Amino acid sequence: MKTIGLLGGMSWESTVPYYRLINEAVKQRLGGLHSARLLLHSVDFAEIEALQRSGDWEAAGRQLASAARGLETAGADLLLIGANTMHRVAPAVEAAIGIPLLHVGDATARAVRAADIVRVGLLGTRFTMEQAFYVDRLAAHGLEVLVPSTAEREEVHRVIYQELCAGRFEPSSRARFRQVMAGLVARGAQGVILGCTEIGLLVDAGDASVPLFDTTRLHALAAVEAALGG
Ligand code: GLU
Repeated sequence: MKTIGLLGGMSWESTVPYYRLINEAVKQRLGGLHSARLLLHSVDFAEIEALQRSGDWEAAGRQLASAARGLETAGADLLLIGANTMHRVAPAVEAAIGIPLLHVGDATARAVRAADIVRVGLLGTRFTMEQAFYVDRLAAHGLEVLVPSTAEREEVHRVIYQELCAGRFEPSSRARFRQVMAGLVARGAQGVILGCTEIGLLVDAGDASVPLFDTTRLHALAAVEAALGG
């Protein structure tokens, strides 16, 4: 079994399910008392969030690249960035290491295509919904990506940072996300990507009339496949 390196803490609320999902999948595949070989570097999210807000992606990239190098030196065979937004700096991280980076967008897009879906809605931070690094990555797999309206994107972004990353899961926000997803479905989305690793803590399959693709789960499962050699 290969050792998974996980860059976590973005936020730690979603690092907990990453750790659980990875270990559950290894246990399911290997049985008995097997668990994942895993190294975690968990950042202080306040520092990362400040760099995101000020648009200093270079500094954020340097910080994650240095953490990734540390995981490689410690023995990681492959790397996960445990957040969608921070894939904005995936090229800088990849350039700093000699081990493969498993991109969350690739793991997700493959699952969407395997479900025979081409037109898909995307929820995430404003960075993820609005910048090319994520939408283009999905489009490269042949997906047509629909994002919510400007006002809805603002609201989803606010809920992620002010509530979900702070460990608050409000019924009113869940109801709002349900409405936003219904709007995407009305525009033709055949599925919805939960493109922020905390959203799966707020909504589940019962909140939409189409399949939901939880990036945390799909990314964790892809890592286990890679660690156990397919
Ligand atoms: N974890 C979130 C994501 O998957 C948002 C927090 C962040 O900006 O890293 O995008």
